[in-house]
This record gives sequence, C-alpha cells and structure tokens, in this order.
Amino acid sequence: MNLKTLAKERIAVLLKEAELVPEKKDRYAELILKIAKKAEMGLPKSAKMKICRKCKKFIMPDSLIIRTNKKTKCVEYTCKKCGSKRRYSYSSKKNN
Ligand SMILES: [Zn+2]
Repeated sequence: MNLKTLAKERIAVLLKEAELVPEKKDRYAELILKIAKKAEMGLPKSAKMKICRKCKKFIMPDSLIIRTNKKTKCVEYTCKKCGSKRRYSYSSKKNN
C-alpha cells in the first residue's frame, strides 16, 4: 500500500471519529491536515468540505455563511471564524 492510499484511509477514519467525538474535532482537523501534508496530497473532497484550510478547524453548519451566486453559478462558503471564502461551482461541469 502506498502512502497516499494509507493517508486517505486514515483521513476517512479521522473524519468519522470527529463526528463521534465533537470535543476533539479541532484536534482531528489538525491531524488530517498534517497527514495530507506528509503524504504530499490535497485533502480528499470529503474532508475539504469539512475543514477550513485557513483556521484549521472543522466547519460546523452554524459557523458557515452560504451564499449562491447566480452569475458565476457558484456556491460561496464563508467561514465565520476566519472569514476565508471558498467557492464551489454548482453548474453541470464537474468539480476538480
Ligand atoms: Zn476558517
């Protein structure tokens, strides 16, 4: 098994754990980012949606402002904690 496959598996486990143990969420978020960095890979899509890259915290539904932009066909997510914005296209074009 190569490092990236292993990293992906560990990240998937940590994501699940974080949902079960909310008080350790931020610690897990840190670990997930560390693992991804070590494996020299980007975050898997499942983790990308859940962790803010800037403040390195799990994004909770109530710590997020979601806006849609009809012109660019994007959903804009703003992290309330650090104010960083991310955009995801919702047009039929594939993401990533
Ligand atoms: Zn943030």
